[in-house]
Amino acid sequence: MTDTIYQKTFKETLSAVGIGVHSGAKATITFRPAPANTGIIFKRTDVTGKNNEIPATYQYVVDTRMCSCFGNSDGVTVSTAEHVMAALHAYGISNAYIEVNGPEIPIMDGSAKDFAFLFDCAGLSEQRTPQKFLKIKRNVKFDDGKGATASLSPADSGLELSFDIEFPAKIIGHQACNLKLTPQTFKEQIAIARTFGMKEDIERLRQIGLARGGSLDNAILVDKDKIVNPEGLREPKEFVFHKVLDAVGDLYQAGMPVIGRFYGNKSGHFHTNALLKQVFSDKRNYEIIEAKPAGKN
Ligand SMILES: [Zn+2]
Repeated sequence: MTDTIYQKTFKETLSAVGIGVHSGAKATITFRPAPANTGIIFKRTDVTGKNNEIPATYQYVVDTRMCSCFGNSDGVTVSTAEHVMAALHAYGISNAYIEVNGPEIPIMDGSAKDFAFLFDCAGLSEQRTPQKFLKIKRNVKFDDGKGATASLSPADSGLELSFDIEFPAKIIGHQACNLKLTPQTFKEQIAIARTFGMKEDIERLRQIGLARGGSLDNAILVDKDKIVNPEGLREPKEFVFHKVLDAVGDLYQAGMPVIGRFYGNKSGHFHTNALLKQVFSDKRNYEIIEAKPAGKN
């Protein structure tokens, strides 16, 4: 979190197996410790003869239509990275190699709950290098001209997130939330919120060969005014909390934790990425600060 003073990485290497939501293919994800100032690097272990490393920053985002997909100049990509990025952001993990033996990060249960559990199991170690933060200095807003906006404004400390969503399906309707990112809000509200889809959209995606791995085990399925999943929702505002989860993950494309207030109004991966590009396009919008050990301020 933003009170972290030193950079952090994993204490131990840990792996998990899951399936890709679009391909339906089994994939193994492995989290490895990395030296200070490495940042978050995805590594495609199934790719040979090309650069298989992809830094997880906003400049490397190549597709935002269905998820956040990172790619390098050799055309090597890794998709569905946003939920794991959210857990990394919330845990303040600055440096890690994340290996995956296929093009998609496993979807797990559609939330970030399993990644949070894995990070708790691996444990974190502090590195003797100060953590950097992206501190927002001016209001920056991205408006897509079609009714969706994403903005960042200054805050004294930490990351505060507000979100509004509006869906024609009455079971979702209008949902709003406002919270501060803390280990507790992340674990209790954000990390558990699953991705969701409309039944008619899933059928359309299946026809074009996508969402093959999608099932009631890894998404909330909404059929007009009812939830298809027999277990129902994990919490009444699960939909808007999932949007917050995506935003926490996408904001970590800054390459460091963000100090500011984020507001998303019907926004998605594309908007958050466009917002970050806008922030970094003008040096007056931000400051990169280092958290100094107590007494040295
Ligand atoms: Zn998501």
